[in-house]
Amino acid sequence: MPKVTYSLLERTKAQLLAELSRDIRDERVLAAIAKVPRQRFVSDDLRAFAYDNRPLPIGHGQTISQPLIVAMMTEALDLRGDEKVLELGTGSGYQAAILAELTAQVVTVERIAPLAEQAAAVLAELGYDNVQVHLAGDALGWPEEAPYEGILVTAAAPDVPSSLVEQLAPQGRLVIPVGAQDVQELLLVTNSRGGLAIKRLGPCRFVPLLGAGGWSTADSGFPEL
Ligand code: SAH
Repeated sequence: MPKVTYSLLERTKAQLLAELSRDIRDERVLAAIAKVPRQRFVSDDLRAFAYDNRPLPIGHGQTISQPLIVAMMTEALDLRGDEKVLELGTGSGYQAAILAELTAQVVTVERIAPLAEQAAAVLAELGYDNVQVHLAGDALGWPEEAPYEGILVTAAAPDVPSSLVEQLAPQGRLVIPVGAQDVQELLLVTNSRGGLAIKRLGPCRFVPLLGAGGWSTADSGFPEL
C-alpha cells in the first residue's frame, strides 16, 4: 500500500478545521474555510503559517483576520446563497472569497489602493467573478449597490454607523466590531420593522475603521490617503 503523505499546509488546515468545528456549527462555513486557499492571501514568507488560527500581517499596518473570527462573522450573516453582501475592509480579499463561496454577489470596499488591487488580482486568479472590489470613496460603504441583505465590517468602529444601517435591506444583518481602538465587541445588528436589534457575539480586536463613520486618521496613527 502506498503511504499517503500530506503536505504540512494540508495538515495544519485539517487541524484548523478541527479546531473551528468546536465553535462553528454551520457546515457550509466550515466547507468554505476548507476550500479557500488562505495561503494565496498572504505573502510568500508567511505561507507556512497560513492555517494557524491567528491574524497575519498583510502590509500597510493591516492584517488578515484570524480564521475563527472570519468563520464567526460569516456564520452570523446566516447566508442562504442568494444575497448581495457588502464587506467593508477588503484587506487581503480572504474574507471576500469566503463570502463568495456562500452567496451570489459580494461587494467589497478598501481604502488602501495597493491592498484593493492585490486582493482583486488574487480573487480574479482564483476565479471569483461574483466579487466586486472598490476603492473607498468619501461615503462609508458602497451606497451605489445598496441595499444589502448582509454587511460585514472587518475594521473596528466607535459606534454602529447610521450610514451603514441605511445600506441594509429590510431584515438585513450587519456584523460589526464596535468599541475602543484597542478592543471591541462583535455585534450582530438586525434591521426589522420594529427597529434595530443588537446581539453581542463576544470580544474581538480589529484594526480601526478610518474616515466617515469610523475613527479620524489623525487619532489612529495611520496616514491620510
Ligand atoms: N477582511 C480582511 C481584513 C481586513 S483588515 C481580510 O480578509 O484580509 C481591515 C481593512 O479595513 C484594512 O485593509 C483597512 O485598510 C480597511 N479599512 C479601514 N477603514 C476603511 C474604510 N472606511 N473603508 C474601507 N476599508 C477600510
